[in-house]
Amino acid sequence: MPLPPTLRATPFIGARSEEEGARVVLFGCPFDSTVSFRPGARFGPAAIRAVSDVLETYCPVLGRDLEDVVYADVGDLPLPPGDTATALNLTHAMATQVLTAGQMPAALGGEHLLTLPLVRAAAEVFEDLVVVQFDAHFDMRNQYLGVELSHTTVMRRVSELLAPSHILQVGQRSGTREEFEKTEFRERYGPPEQSASGIRQWVGSRSLYVTVDLDVLDPSVCPGTGTPEPGGVDFRTLQNWLVGLAGCRWVGWDVMELSPHHDPTQISSVVAAKLVRTMILASSAGGDKSVRALKQ
Ligand code: MN
Ligand code: MN
Repeated sequence: MPLPPTLRATPFIGARSEEEGARVVLFGCPFDSTVSFRPGARFGPAAIRAVSDVLETYCPVLGRDLEDVVYADVGDLPLPPGDTATALNLTHAMATQVLTAGQMPAALGGEHLLTLPLVRAAAEVFEDLVVVQFDAHFDMRNQYLGVELSHTTVMRRVSELLAPSHILQVGQRSGTREEFEKTEFRERYGPPEQSASGIRQWVGSRSLYVTVDLDVLDPSVCPGTGTPEPGGVDFRTLQNWLVGLAGCRWVGWDVMELSPHHDPTQISSVVAAKLVRTMILASSAGGDKSVRALKQ
């Protein structure tokens, strides 16, 4: 079955534009209709691709090169602004099609709500699916302004798909009292100083979906996001968390919430692009014992 139609774009550095034979299939999700503060994440995928040429293909931390991986960038899903249901359906259809072909979906956001159909598609294929969420926020509200499908509720909806022991939230420093104190939520998250080895141990041999909300980073590192939250981690901390997951059984991932118009220097786009490179390499490193991070 062919993939759903996409709006083609100049691919991410080193990516082929056709999905055939690719281990990882990148696609953009340009949608930001439910964001609660500053819109603009719909321009995220294009901004990530536009700066990706600044990257080297080699990642010294992982000791791996993008040339070691076959991956594709098939362009952007045509998500209609303001139509959340259609956006979720198209994203789910794309992820399902990629997974059915035995490939790994990798989404460029776009707002965080789109992680819901991506996780749903993965959970329909992998019964042992676990989700690791790097985010300044829990996204565990039940509603926001009366709306149940929002980037502020996305993990609450995900928690309705997966058992509590299958969700790990890392990096949170902002939320409601309920999000911080409710026991059934608390067991799902670790403090910002969570260690890479601890996260890896938690994942174990289970099928892994990783979602990165860029606001997990400190705004001084990544100002170009819709809801910046002071007190976040630096780039290396997030990179180490991701590198520590190399060798796990990744089945899908996303990088969400880049809002490039709030980023006049483009540094946030470069940060996002480098995370995409890290995740292409980490997610495809299954069983690679030469990964330097694993020796540390
Ligand atoms: Mn967030
Ligand atoms: Mn989020």
